[in-house]
Amino acid sequence: MSDSIRRREFLGTAARTAAAGSVVGRALSAAAGEAEAPATQPAAEDKLIWRNKQPTMTYARLGRTNFMVSRMIFGAGGVYSQGGSTRLLEMAIERGMNYLDTGRPYAKSEQTLAPIAKKHRDKLWICSKAGDLGWPGMKVKRSEDAKAARMYTEQLDDSLKALGTDCIDCYMVQGVQHDWVVTMDALYEAFEKAKKAGKVRSFGLATHTGVATICRLAAKTGRYDVVMLAINPNSADELKPTLDAMHKADMGIVSMKNVGPIRGRPQAFDEKYGDMFAGQKLSPYQRAYAYMLFRVGVHAFNTHAPTITILEENIKVPTLKLSKAELARLERRVLAEARGACRHCGACSQACPKGIRVADMLRSHSYLHNYRDPNAARELYESLGPDHADLCAGCRTCVAACPESIDHPAVISSLRVTLARDRTGGTPAA
Ligand code: SF4
Ligand code: SF4
Repeated sequence: MSDSIRRREFLGTAARTAAAGSVVGRALSAAAGEAEAPATQPAAEDKLIWRNKQPTMTYARLGRTNFMVSRMIFGAGGVYSQGGSTRLLEMAIERGMNYLDTGRPYAKSEQTLAPIAKKHRDKLWICSKAGDLGWPGMKVKRSEDAKAARMYTEQLDDSLKALGTDCIDCYMVQGVQHDWVVTMDALYEAFEKAKKAGKVRSFGLATHTGVATICRLAAKTGRYDVVMLAINPNSADELKPTLDAMHKADMGIVSMKNVGPIRGRPQAFDEKYGDMFAGQKLSPYQRAYAYMLFRVGVHAFNTHAPTITILEENIKVPTLKLSKAELARLERRVLAEARGACRHCGACSQACPKGIRVADMLRSHSYLHNYRDPNAARELYESLGPDHADLCAGCRTCVAACPESIDHPAVISSLRVTLARDRTGGTPAA
């Protein structure tokens, strides 16, 4: 049994008594027991798009899309990249989850999801993504606008076919880490053309590296309806101006990589702090997700839920009712737990004299140890190129550039041992 499965059960009292299925207002300005959703620009009731509204979920308006998104969304890439049963997704839909996150880079994910996407099409907002314009394998250069547009269009067509639908609600550019991709006119024109043809409703991007720069620029362009960004409690404060700009531009905001480095040993902080909630026990994961919803004010958090236990735990978070005092305690604890987490600033990659994609190495390490997903870890590691880790000279320039002084050479060295293919053609170490 994994550490994740052993996570402590939330007692559920708060969730059962929550104001079910409600649309809520502003983050943390609420009175006790009214942990609320982010400040977004109002929209007329008749403009709101509701799907799969259930009393066991809360919803927020996803920016100018006007879609009422469930505040927990289902990240299907990690769960279904290798195929498998969609029972977990069915369970989430039964509980009111209404946003399906997938993408071309996630191997078999779209094909696996096709039957359930078809069966529940009217209940789901389907978001998929084009790869190779960022993570995991960049295949365009700065001036290759026509190629980028063609790649977006072709991948959108492939996604439509794989998912068995004639329209995707949001088609994002995955893993954006270059400013010139954000502002590329040809890419947006490709989206607009597809939108006119009825293939897609809204435009978006996902970003894990240099997130402040990428998201601020995305807000400035006015082109992006939804952004999914890597953010955790350790980086939330410095990203606040960026989030404010995104709210001002009325963009939908979905958080991912919410938890920081906890997943490797989730019970560690419980031992340290003990129970702080009368009548409730929240796992470190629930606390981080609650922080994202009720303090940071994202519209929804994206979660990796590979087991029923984890799904059950995560799906309770949107309906938590926490008093102001409980929220204050939660905030202190979450910040302590997330201390030292990567802030996704990208400084380590930029600093490396050998051109090593250090931040991607760190993410691969996180997939391996925090998410317990060796396939995703290996896929990312191998996408960086053969022997990429071997380029590391151990100079520690990356460590000096990192605001958290993360020991990247140690991470790279451990990946080399764990994930590098045996040069003789034998079995990888793990
Ligand atoms: S220690 Fe390795 S990864 Fe870090 S800057 Fe030096 S060569 Fe690059
Ligand atoms: S420099 Fe540090 S905080 Fe920034 S992306 Fe690299 S590891 Fe993360």
